[in-house]
Amino acid sequence: MAMEVRPWTAPRQVPPATAAGELPVAGGQGDYRQAIKPTPAGWPRRDQWCLWIEPIHDHGPTGIWEQRWRQAVEAAVATWQLQLPIRIVGDPSQAQVLVERRRPPLQQGRASHGRALLQLLEVRRAGPWQLEPRVQVLISPGQNPRAIQATALHELGHAFGLWGHSDQPGDAMASKPGPAPVLQLSPRDRTTLNWLQQQPALGGIGVAP
Ligand SMILES: [Zn+2]
Repeated sequence: MAMEVRPWTAPRQVPPATAAGELPVAGGQGDYRQAIKPTPAGWPRRDQWCLWIEPIHDHGPTGIWEQRWRQAVEAAVATWQLQLPIRIVGDPSQAQVLVERRRPPLQQGRASHGRALLQLLEVRRAGPWQLEPRVQVLISPGQNPRAIQATALHELGHAFGLWGHSDQPGDAMASKPGPAPVLQLSPRDRTTLNWLQQQPALGGIGVAP
């Protein structure tokens, strides 16, 4: 299906709270909603996501690291699929989330194994122009599979709209990883996500007809 895409630029003078409704107040010990930030156009959440994962090029014995990377990423996606409708697609142009196998560039001199980068795009598929998040997720291949899975679980949380961090090490969205890799979502992760899913989605603010 023909699809057009163009970058969205925030109109000046739109305070985040206008598009996002009321900003979150602390949800108590049960979640970390107060740490989650909206975009200037509202909450970058969706009822359904399409996700693309970089394919394996080498299916033979020499491709073992590629294959392990992909399996670890798929395991992290499967964990999020228990909470959200996520469809894995083969065509990157159809995806809102693109997971790539590469080490993120240094940021202010610091190395990391994963990064999620959010863009807002105006997309026209069949009907009118609509605002969509487009998230590039970089996951380094240079870790053991459990660490890759934990990194992917965390970065995918950002991709699905959790743009903030928990201060508790047992949460997938913890700002600092604890001693053991977190491979499952905690009750606090799930409660925060459920709260996010009830917020208004990206609005049409600034979308030209
Ligand atoms: Zn993070």
